[in-house]
Formats: sequence, structure tokens, C-alpha cells
Amino acid sequence: MASTSSTESSTDAPGTSNSIPESNQLVITMADKTKVPEEEYARGGFLRVNPGQFINHHQLVKYLGRGTFGTVWLTKHTESGTYAAMKISKSNITCPDAAGREIQFLENIDSRGGHPNIVKLMEKLVTHDIGIGHVAMVFEVLGPNLESVIFDSGRTFPVEVVKRVSRQLLEAISFVHNRDIIHMNIKSSNVMLAISENNIKNLVSNPDSSSNRYDIDLTKADARIVVKLADFGHALYSYENMPDRHLETNCLFRAPEQFLTTNYDTALDMWSFGCMLYEMVAGSLLFPCKQYFLDHDRVHFMLMANRFGPITLADFEDGLRPEFLENFNDDGQMNVEDMGEPLPNFFEMAQQEGWSAEDANDFSTFMHLLFKYNRGERITADEALRHNFIRSNGVRQAEEAPAVPPLALDYPEAEEVFDRVVPLPDDEE
Ligand SMILES: [Zn+2]
Repeated sequence: MASTSSTESSTDAPGTSNSIPESNQLVITMADKTKVPEEEYARGGFLRVNPGQFINHHQLVKYLGRGTFGTVWLTKHTESGTYAAMKISKSNITCPDAAGREIQFLENIDSRGGHPNIVKLMEKLVTHDIGIGHVAMVFEVLGPNLESVIFDSGRTFPVEVVKRVSRQLLEAISFVHNRDIIHMNIKSSNVMLAISENNIKNLVSNPDSSSNRYDIDLTKADARIVVKLADFGHALYSYENMPDRHLETNCLFRAPEQFLTTNYDTALDMWSFGCMLYEMVAGSLLFPCKQYFLDHDRVHFMLMANRFGPITLADFEDGLRPEFLENFNDDGQMNVEDMGEPLPNFFEMAQQEGWSAEDANDFSTFMHLLFKYNRGERITADEALRHNFIRSNGVRQAEEAPAVPPLALDYPEAEEVFDRVVPLPDDEE
């Protein structure tokens, strides 16, 4: 059996094996996103483009998907023949602003040497349609996002894969946090799987845009998997003061201080990371709150308190939003309803997945450190990388080498170094 360390120090790209039987391939369906609805092209909306069309020296090959920001296309460089993923923003006021901020953060990260677990921006350009500007960002081609992998494939990961993915993401989060950047939008749909040349070839040659097939076998403990943190469109510098910025992000991953206070810091990304880790293990949402449109906050806090204990005012006095003061009783505890039946604890949940008692115990203690209500007590990314759950069953290699090597692309016709797709965020931000 290949050890974790040999997997991660390997120079092979993930998913390069041709021997994976079809049943173990990852099949990601695109559901209803294969076409852009006509109304999306209205003023302020998407750029109307078609396969075969050129944007500067990139020819559009295939529509890959869309999100709230715009569309994503597989492109081919007219001179080098390099495939890339082009994210074309809408033209309304907020999208070029978000794109501009994302570019600024990605260029900052790149100027500090970049990180193997953070998407790399290859090029930025502005294209025009009847005088209206659309920002286009060119990324390496990446595979499916973690949300699709978890929820579309219906597979749960072996503990070794959970740890490997977690370690890579924590390396990326540590990198940005140590540079005063808060990602602000860490969630499974913003984590992309790197793919091999063969997978890119399959993507190019598959005329069907309703589903994509990848030679990535996540059912095996030694599965080669490289993940990349994407979408810095909501990122902030920790010294910026933008108290309402966080309200744009998906509530499922939102830390309690983001609801309750105007003060926050890098610790909020760790709460979000914990929500994503839960999804990887359980294959379900930690806070299934979205169906409660009218009474969302009450339900979300109820789920939180039933999972992690009473929410106390003392943990949120720093910058408490005044409208929440009435939620707390005279003893400084938030009033929430009891859910009756206790939720399964993390230890039991991990054991149900077949994990050893040791792994389940490490997981449980780790989760409770990620979900400290008080952001000052919450585990940091650097501390998390030293936690036994992350360190065990695979040596942490960051000191000697990057968590993952740059992808070695063995497709003989391609000399370029790239690998990436852009996030296809799918939330009502
Ligand atoms: Zn919620």
C-alpha cells in the first residue's frame, strides 16, 4: 500500500492512471446549467459568446458552466495550443468590482510565490460587447469542485483522503492568513480538484456538456488528489474595515461572529473549513437551515446551539450587532429551542463511517477546536496543521517541500504548465 507521504511526494499528476475501471470514475453532472438562459444576457448580465469565437488570443472551445458572477469557458490559446479556463464576469456594477478584487488578491498571492493549493491566475483581460466591459480571468483548467464530488457522486471519502484534502486546504489557508488575507468564502464549491492532461483531453473531446467524467478514484485510501482553493472574490485584508461584507456569503459556512458582530478576523475561515470537513465526512450539511426562509436565523442558531452548546453573550460582546441583544436572556445565554433528540456526535459519526477509534477521537477533538464560538479560542490554520488528526497517517511535509508538487503534466504534446478550472459557485449570495 502506498503511504500518504509517497503519494504526496510523487510527481505523478492525480488521475493519470488509465486503469481505473469506469465504475470508479467520477461522473459529475451539470444539471440545469448546460445552457445560459436568454434573460441572463440582458444589460448587466453575461457576455454573449459562442464556441469557436475568439477573445484576444483565446478561442472558446466549450461552455463549462456559470455562476452568479458569469460564465466559465474552456479555451485554447491560438499560438501555444494551451487549454485554459476563462471566467467571464457579468458587466453589472458589482461583478467587475468583485473580479477586480479577486485579481488583486490572486496577484498578491502569486507575487509571494503562489501556493500549490491555491488557484493560479494566468492572465486577465477586459473584453467588450457593444461598449460594455466584461472582465475575463484566465486560469489553469481544473476539475470538479468538492461540493459536486461530495453531493453528486454520492461517495464518502476514506479517512486518509479526508485528511489529505484537509491538510492541503489548511496549507492554503495558512498561506493566506499569514499574509493578512481572509478568504471569507471557504466552502466546498470553492475547492477545486486538479486534473491530469488525460482528463483535460477528455473534457475537450466530450461534446456533451451535461456531464463530465474524470479518472479520479476517491474510493481508495491512497487516491491521488490535489485540491486548490479558489474564488477570492469576497476576500478581505484583515486590516480592512468592511463590516457588512460578510453578509454576502453563504450562511451554511458562516461563523457565528459573522451573524452576531461587526468584528471578525481570519478565524472565521476556520469555522467555514470545519463545515466543509463535516461535509466530507458525513456527506451532508452541518447546518441544514436553508429551507427555513422566514425564520432562518432562529433555526440556524438552534442548530448551532444544539450541536455546540449554549451561545453566550460573553463570546460576542466585541462588536455585537444591537439587534441581537434581545436574543440573549438575563444570564447572557441566547434563547434557542431544544431540538428534542440530541444530534449524533462526531465520534459516533466517524465510527459509523468505519473509522478507527483513534481517528474518530482525533476527528472529534479537532472539530470542537474548529467550532469554538469565541474566535480568539478557535484553532488557527497553523495550529490545525499540527493537530494529531491532520498530522497522523501521513507526515506533514510543508517544512521540506510543498504539500503537493506542481502537477507534472505528461501529455507529450503539451509543454505548458497549467491545470485548472474556475469555481462554479452556485449559491444565492
Ligand atoms: Zn443558515
